Amino acid sequence: MRVTSFPLKTLRDAPSEAEIISHKLLLQGGYIRRVSSGIYAYMPLMLRVIEKISVIIDKELSKIGCSKLLLPQLHPCELWEKSGRWEGYTAGEGIMFNLRDRQDRAYGLAPTHEEVITIIASEIINSYKQLPVCYYQIQTKFRDEIRPRFGLMRGREFIMKDGYSFHSTESDLKIFYKKMEKSYENIFKNCGLETIGVDADSGAIGGAASKEFMVTANSGEDSILFTKSGSYAANIEKAVSIPKESKPIKEFEQTLIQTPNQKTIEDICKFNNLDATQIVKVILYLGEFEDNTKLPIAACIRGDQYINEIKIFNLLNNIYDSKLINLSKIENKSSINKNLFGIPMGYLGPDISDEIINKNSLWEKQWFRVVDYSASKLESFISGANKINVHRYFKSWKSLDNTFITSDIRNAQEGDFISKDKEEALIEKKGIEIGHIFQLGQKYSEKLNAKFSNSDGGLENLWMGCYGIGVTRLAQAAIEQNHDNDGIVWPIQIAPFNIVLIPTNFKDPIQKKLSEEIYIEFQKNNIDVLIDDRDERAGVKFKDADLIGIPFRIIIGRDAINNQVEFSSRSKKSNIKVSINNILKIFINESKLMYN
Ligand code: ATP
Ligand code: MG
Repeated sequence: MRVTSFPLKTLRDAPSEAEIISHKLLLQGGYIRRVSSGIYAYMPLMLRVIEKISVIIDKELSKIGCSKLLLPQLHPCELWEKSGRWEGYTAGEGIMFNLRDRQDRAYGLAPTHEEVITIIASEIINSYKQLPVCYYQIQTKFRDEIRPRFGLMRGREFIMKDGYSFHSTESDLKIFYKKMEKSYENIFKNCGLETIGVDADSGAIGGAASKEFMVTANSGEDSILFTKSGSYAANIEKAVSIPKESKPIKEFEQTLIQTPNQKTIEDICKFNNLDATQIVKVILYLGEFEDNTKLPIAACIRGDQYINEIKIFNLLNNIYDSKLINLSKIENKSSINKNLFGIPMGYLGPDISDEIINKNSLWEKQWFRVVDYSASKLESFISGANKINVHRYFKSWKSLDNTFITSDIRNAQEGDFISKDKEEALIEKKGIEIGHIFQLGQKYSEKLNAKFSNSDGGLENLWMGCYGIGVTRLAQAAIEQNHDNDGIVWPIQIAPFNIVLIPTNFKDPIQKKLSEEIYIEFQKNNIDVLIDDRDERAGVKFKDADLIGIPFRIIIGRDAINNQVEFSSRSKKSNIKVSINNILKIFINESKLMYN
């Protein structure tokens, strides 16, 4: 391809909207153009990257017997009502764009395709003899994200590979899930990426087991915890660990401790000679359930630990009859809190009385007190006295009348151990989620009545798995992992072109002739070659080549007259002089090294 044919439009400076390096480089290099918040045009260079990733995905998935198809993006509301997801996905903070047709019927723009594929599979599959089967597509998804940002990382319109498998038994689903996990590892490796697979929460998609694939990068929105040996890796949403030991607490003579204006754990520790592990902090939440009940939740946790709201969410969903729709923290500044308690949050204690809570007519009388294991194991501790400027010494949990649910509701932290023998401490890093696989089980087939006849002749709900890759996010994550001060350094596997030819003066007939000859020879050999045929200064061309990150370059300059050119790689940058007779061979050898 010729640079003049796109044409290439690079920017000297990155637009101010770009906060992270990969976003900056995509905009500067002319790969993408912003149309609106979270909505981008993929320019020719970008589309080539997307297509390369898609080919790698196709190749790997066909090895495990997946079939590619293309599903509609406009989904009728009734289908999502059947699965019970319409309300949650469209109301409040729901992410599904929705619209009405001329007959006033409601539709959603697909954020994901479980509903559509399940209905189709139920119509095609009758018997266990047709199973297993796995369909996938590579297609634009729409999500009205609350905070679209970082370019293609969190778009409102983005390209996803989504796959769905159907099985006759749970064990067959598990076997296939393992195969898919291996396929994902191959896909990311073949894209030239380093990833970590982590245990993950299944979120709104639901189901039993799920695993996310992360590219580690400081700009990542996820936190992941793992051991050096790789024996354990999990998203912080899901990670479990043994926290550090608490310091024994001396007995306090007085029960009440005056703590004026000591609003933080650090203050209380400093002024009262305490350790954060000796304190129990109490945080209030409001849970809103599908049956319209609103229940307050007091979450108690050790002072040095942090609440994991996803764990609380999952816990409440397990113990309460109705489905939890929303869990929100009751902030200090919230008017509910002020009117109700008059107690700043930092002064709440685990024995906060029902009477106080019950004064609020907005809430049900029933409420939950949940204590994290870390706090429940404390023999004695300090916590709020439910009075401003006063804390209290609690001799033991047993001395309290209230009923507490004990559970793991804390975030695992770096330095925590994964087992009692304390061999492996956890390391924490930021990660970008580029893929996610789920064992859905029968969640969707049950709701959508997707049955097959099993080997005993009975009707059974289909067993399902689902598997996503954020194709456009992956492309950008590759840049987070591979760049330098001058621009992108693409892994050769997904680079838009493998080599760029740069005649330093395209007006020079000798240089032009030689460049065109090399161009044709490379094309004949099926090499993705780009020629910078612009009438630009050499310096501009070099700068642009660095910015767009093509792995190899050939400079055709003054020595063209002697059939000599310069060859270099984007990552090493050292130029070698090469006779044009050897150039193809050298490129092939060098690029082979990069694929390994
Ligand atoms: P996230 O937690 O980042 O919001 P998710 O868990 O909701 O993502 P999935 O439903 O698992 O996303 O979608 C499959 C893949 O699609 C994700 O692993 C991610 O790589 C990609 N993806 C999801 N949302 C976006 C988005 N808004 N923009 C770009 N890629 C996305
Ligand atoms: Mg996910």
